[in-house]
Amino acid sequence: MVFLARTEEFIREVDRYSARNYNPLPVVIERGEGVWVWDVEGNKYLDMLSAYSALNQGHRHPKIISALMEQAGKCTLTSRAFHNETMGPFLKTLCELAGYGKALPMNTGAEAVETAIKAARKWGLVRKGVPENQGEIIVCENNFHGRTVTIISFSSEEQYRYGFGPYTPGFVLVPYGDLEALEKAITPHTVAVLAEPIQGEGGVVVPPQGYLAKMRELATEHNLLMMLDEIQTGLGRTGRLFAYEHEGAKPDVLILGKALGGGVYPVSAVLASEEVLGVFNPGDHGSTFGGNPLGAAVAQAALEVILEEDLPGRAEQLGNYFLEGLKALNSPYVREIRGRGLLIGVEIKTEYGSARPFCQRLMAEGLLCKETHEQTIRFAPPLVISKEEIDWALERIQKVLGA
Ligand SMILES: *Cc1c(COP(=O)(O)O)cnc(C)c1O
Repeated sequence: MVFLARTEEFIREVDRYSARNYNPLPVVIERGEGVWVWDVEGNKYLDMLSAYSALNQGHRHPKIISALMEQAGKCTLTSRAFHNETMGPFLKTLCELAGYGKALPMNTGAEAVETAIKAARKWGLVRKGVPENQGEIIVCENNFHGRTVTIISFSSEEQYRYGFGPYTPGFVLVPYGDLEALEKAITPHTVAVLAEPIQGEGGVVVPPQGYLAKMRELATEHNLLMMLDEIQTGLGRTGRLFAYEHEGAKPDVLILGKALGGGVYPVSAVLASEEVLGVFNPGDHGSTFGGNPLGAAVAQAALEVILEEDLPGRAEQLGNYFLEGLKALNSPYVREIRGRGLLIGVEIKTEYGSARPFCQRLMAEGLLCKETHEQTIRFAPPLVISKEEIDWALERIQKVLGA
C-alpha cells in the first residue's frame, strides 16, 4: 500500500481541526456498498468492523436508503411536541418483534443506556419502594455502555474515567461472568443489574454458559430489573435476533442502538413493559430528535431488512464457518479465538505486541479491522456478507496471521 497525497491531505486536515479523541487507521473512505468500502485512492477494502455493528445490514442497503429518501421528501423532524406518521408504526414493529409492551426512542446508544438507568431508578422508587436517591444498579467490570459522565462513572477502564469526575454514584461493580459476586452484591436497595450479553468493546468476552439464565433467575427472585445492553450484540449479530436468546433469558429492559439505524441514521431505543416505562410522565425525559420521522422510517426499514434477509440465520451459519476458518489457520500469534455468530475476537499473544500492527497489515491486504482492548482483533463484518467473501477474507488473514 502506497501512501498517496490525497489521503495525507485529508488526514492532515483532520489532525489540524479535530479533537484527538480517536486514533483511526490511516484510510480515508469515500464510498461504501454492502460489505465493501473504497478509499479516496480507489483502493477497495472489506469492512470487518461494520462501525462497531451499526452496519449489520451493510453499507447503503437499497431498501434503507430508499426509506430515507422517501421520508426526506416528506418530513424529517417534528419534535415530540407534535405527532408524526412514522414513529408509531416503527415502535409497533419493534415492540411486536422483540416482545415488549412499550418502547422509548432515542438517538445514540449512550442516550438509550441513560434512559434505562433513569427508568430503573424511578421504577425502584415508585414501584419497588426503594427510598429516594438510594437505588443501586449492579454493573460488570470491563463493561462498555457509552461515554456520558454517568456511564463512565461505572466504567472499570481508568482511561475512560480519568479527569472526568466527579462521578455519578449509585453503581456497584462486580466481575463479569461471576454469579456469586452478583448475588452477593444484591441489597434491598438494588433496583437493577445492567450487563452486555457479550462484552464487545471489552475484547469480545463471552460469559460462561448459563450466566444470563441465572442472572434472569436472580433478578426475578430479588425483584430487580434485568437490563441487557444489546446495542452491539442485538439485531442479528450473534446468530439470534438478540443474544439473550441463546439462553432464553429475556431481560426486563432491552437496550438497542447501532444497527437499529441501519448504518444510516442514529436510532436507539429502550424496550420494557408498561410497568417499567410507565414511570415516565410527560416532561420527565425526552430528546429533540428522539422518535423523529426520518429516523423512524429508517429504523422501520432496518428492522424489515433484518427479517427479510434472515440476518440472524446468516450470522449463525457464516459465523461458524468464519470461526472454523480462523481456527484452522493455526496461527502462532494467536492466544485465543472466541465469539458468537459474526462477532469474533482474535486475541494476539502479548509477546507479539499489541493487535494494532496486525490491523495495519490486514489493512494493507484489503481488510479493515480495529483492535479492541490492545490485544484483540475484532472481526465483525456486515451480516450480509457471503461465504465467498469470507473465503476472500480468510485468504488475506492467512497471509497476516498464518504460520
Ligand atoms: C456502542 C455501544 C454503546 C454506545 O453507543 P453510542 O451510540 O456510541 O453512544 C453502548 N453500549 C454498547 C454495548 C455499545 O457497543
